[in-house]
Amino acid sequence: MRKFVAGNWKMNGSLAANEALLAGLEAVPGVEVALCVPYPYLGQLQRRPVGLELGAQDVSEFDVGAYTGEVSAAMLAEFGCRYVIVGHSERRALFGDDDLSVARKAEAALSSGLVPIVCVGETLAERDAGQVHAVISRQLAAVGEVLGRERFGGVVVAYEPVWAIGTGRSATAAQAEEVHAAIRGWLVEQGVQADAVRIVYGGSVKPDNAAELFAMPNVDGGLIGGASLVADDFMAICRAA
Ligand code: PEP
Repeated sequence: MRKFVAGNWKMNGSLAANEALLAGLEAVPGVEVALCVPYPYLGQLQRRPVGLELGAQDVSEFDVGAYTGEVSAAMLAEFGCRYVIVGHSERRALFGDDDLSVARKAEAALSSGLVPIVCVGETLAERDAGQVHAVISRQLAAVGEVLGRERFGGVVVAYEPVWAIGTGRSATAAQAEEVHAAIRGWLVEQGVQADAVRIVYGGSVKPDNAAELFAMPNVDGGLIGGASLVADDFMAICRAA
């Protein structure tokens, strides 16, 4: 399976800063690379280096109508998005996204032909309490219930331990592999065609730990936050994939 690396710019950027960043990016042979940018910059990103896919960082669970402030999956598709992140831990922690709304957002994305990048992951307290697998199974099960096993095969799963996001403290390659293998096993149990599902790792991926993480058999790429804002670092991570 071709590795997949997505940059999550989060709420960063400006028209000028984005131009400068894009000037340092290019497609990497053999790796699928996507940029998940703030909504207002989707227009600017219509002009981007050839071969880079476009994505957003959230989507409405609703199709159309009186939902002030929301952005629909069809709108993202109109702007050429192929991917959309759903259930990022920042959205779960700060904006009330819960398992069911994340599942509905994933469904909305698929219905408009987008690929949802479904984020799952445990907090440090949950890890310390031995609840990693319970938490992740619960988060995935909600998505599975809404999508069903056929459509689950069309998502990307991002394992993002909350304690590793933006902290500079990455999971070790062994820790990531252990959870990725468990996620793949869970998908098999649900009857999902699991070998076709990309399971990517996110959480303080940097040029110096990317190769080791991506070498793990069940790590199919990465979701990159902070390092995706530095062209040389993001390119080094993509080349490590
Ligand atoms: C993220 O926001 O998805 C992420 C993984 O962030 P960082 O790489 O900065 O830890």
